[in-house]
Amino acid sequence: QVRVRFAPSPTGNLHVGGARTALFNYLFARSTGGKFVLRIEDTDLERSTKESEEAVLRDLSWLGLDWDEGPGVGGDHGPYRQSERNSLYKQHAEKLIESGHVYRCFCSNEELEQMKEIAKLKQLPPVYTGKWANATDEEVQEELAKGTPYTYRFRVPKEGRLTINDLIRGEVSWNHNTLGDFVIMRSNGQPVYNFCVTVDDATMAISHVIRAEEHLPNTLRQALIYKALGFPMPHFAHVSLILAPDRSKLSKRHGATSVGQYREMGYLPQAMVNYLALLGWGDGTENEFFTLEQLVEKFSIGRVNKSGAVFDSTKLRWMNGQHLRALPSEQLNKLVGERWKSTGILIQSEGPFIEEAVQLLKDGIEVVTDSEKVISNLLSYPLHATLSSPEGKAMVENKLSELSSALLAAYDNGELSNALEEGHSGWQKWVKSFGKSLKLKGKSLFMPLRVLLTGKLHGPDMGSSIILLHQAGTRDIVSSQAA
Ligand code: GLU
Repeated sequence: QVRVRFAPSPTGNLHVGGARTALFNYLFARSTGGKFVLRIEDTDLERSTKESEEAVLRDLSWLGLDWDEGPGVGGDHGPYRQSERNSLYKQHAEKLIESGHVYRCFCSNEELEQMKEIAKLKQLPPVYTGKWANATDEEVQEELAKGTPYTYRFRVPKEGRLTINDLIRGEVSWNHNTLGDFVIMRSNGQPVYNFCVTVDDATMAISHVIRAEEHLPNTLRQALIYKALGFPMPHFAHVSLILAPDRSKLSKRHGATSVGQYREMGYLPQAMVNYLALLGWGDGTENEFFTLEQLVEKFSIGRVNKSGAVFDSTKLRWMNGQHLRALPSEQLNKLVGERWKSTGILIQSEGPFIEEAVQLLKDGIEVVTDSEKVISNLLSYPLHATLSSPEGKAMVENKLSELSSALLAAYDNGELSNALEEGHSGWQKWVKSFGKSLKLKGKSLFMPLRVLLTGKLHGPDMGSSIILLHQAGTRDIVSSQAA
């Protein structure tokens, strides 16, 4: 049975890279009928926090990536926090001592420093020389009796190679001799990260390890431990990095990089999931719009690209617009209504007003927050107050009379006719300078002008209409039937 895991370290917010790793694991599990396990890697006690763990769980849930085993859900392979699995690590370390894959190393820090210095002088890699690798039982007992502190070291084969067939990157191999005997447990009894991960993956019966490319160098150590413990080796799939548009590693200086930030900015989880899936995966067609269900249906790990994927926040924004417009109208109305209520624009979060407003605005927005600006702008004109108060009335009248007298003046002095004689370019030039002289542009210029010149609020292109009207009035070209 397929069993995959997402194993975040709770030392910060859920980064978009982590979220994509979680998503690929989730999709792989759901598309194969497997299980998706969540494991919290909180061995770094200084940097791990409860708040961060909660934030990661909340963001995964928000994305809709529900886990089958893990914190809050339980399961047969728990506990699901590394900090609660210490006895398991100890137990497996002892097993490896018994089988001889691991030995006790009594070297002091000074000795280890010296080894490094000597290796440096000899221009050798700074690996452990294996001083305690072949110690006799008596030598070991003697140090134990003295109470000398010791670490547990893994005995790395001196020859041969390890090859994995990465599901994304193909064959990857390492010479064993690139690695010295490495520590799996510190002298204070603290197990080392790579050892914990291996014991966890093995005892949680993980069949496929899908994780970020940056963990590829850990795989040699982990695979050696796997073998020594006698567990079947999982399949590995290392997902490429997420890059910034300048192809450097994506980081905070490139803007929002955590899922939580996007949630707070009003992005939809389905747009986020869709966009993250496209970072390194595609179904082989031009199609880019997928719901989570469709992704489950289409996903295959073999189609995941091994080159880095560029995170483009403009595209994510666009994608959010696509998902926004794909929402059933009740959902969109609710989303917008609640937003407007929470930001204090409206008193109620539902009703016909919102339904009509959403119809009016929805094609022009990508993120729900865009709608706030549009509606606030529209509502900032105090229509009733203006039209009902004497000052407001005077203001509207003045504006209109200013515009109409300027128009009449332009007609009387022949400026308008001359411009219209020159056709489109003449009209455009005139209307621009006319607007400028009145400090009016856009709708507030064209609407009254259209009404004054054509007698109607709406109609075909205004410039063309007026040129035609002008020609009809100055040349004998319209028959009496048409009029
Ligand atoms: N805890 C590691 C991280 O957050 C993941 C390790 C793994 O997937 O093997 O990067």
